[in-house]
Amino acid sequence: MLSGLDPSGGAGIQADIQAITALGCHPLPVLTCLTVQDTRNVYNSAPVDAELIREQLACLEEDTPIHAIKTGALGNADVVAVVMGFLARHPDIPLIVDPVIKAAGGGDLADQALVDRMRDGLFAYAEVITPNGEELQLLGEADTAGQSAKTLLTGGCRTVLATGGHGQGEQIINTLYYSDGSKRNWEIPRQGGEYHGTGCTLAASIAAGRAAGLDLESAIAQAQTFVSGAIAQALSVGQGQPVPDRRTGGPA
Ligand code: PLP
Repeated sequence: MLSGLDPSGGAGIQADIQAITALGCHPLPVLTCLTVQDTRNVYNSAPVDAELIREQLACLEEDTPIHAIKTGALGNADVVAVVMGFLARHPDIPLIVDPVIKAAGGGDLADQALVDRMRDGLFAYAEVITPNGEELQLLGEADTAGQSAKTLLTGGCRTVLATGGHGQGEQIINTLYYSDGSKRNWEIPRQGGEYHGTGCTLAASIAAGRAAGLDLESAIAQAQTFVSGAIAQALSVGQGQPVPDRRTGGPA
């Protein structure tokens, strides 16, 4: 996976490594950016050099079979371009894109050039993108989730999993929109509160399920169960949002 470093250990590459490991897979962690952050917000960030990432990916593809790819925060548009170059050589590896734009506390994790490069380039390679409500509205520029998803699907996305974790209501509703206009809903009991790194955990868990051979809907179902379990045992790490406990909870 390709994601950023959150030194509070809540989101980003640590979330991915823990979730993928708990679900029985071996992560290949490629770091895209460093952030200055705690459990409350992101205060600064710096991308990793895109050429270094290109070399890392070239090295991995020579050495290692890769069964799924997950992207999170990507640092800048140059990194997205490098990732797209890699994906063009591996069109059969399922790609899960968590289109990270802002931290839950409001801090920016993407500039406009990065957002544009994701939407106009990266999304077309993805089997699924997993925006939360705010990201979906920013990316699809429409009033409803359904309309925003439709805009992204028309633009070349294959499927959009709109996640409802940051919304209201007793049930979290996650909806998978397909480009043929069909959709599938999952309802998950809301446990209340906001947690740091749930989006990363969900997307990484979907990638782990796909790497292990599950189809997309089964991988999403497994990922949702894993995230709910991690939230149920969330850890109070700092003064802000609790961190989902991803150390256990994989399939028996
Ligand atoms: N990636 C990094 C490096 C982050 O710092 C954050 C949020 O703070 C995210 C991704 C997104 O986190 P979430 O899983 O809450 O969407």
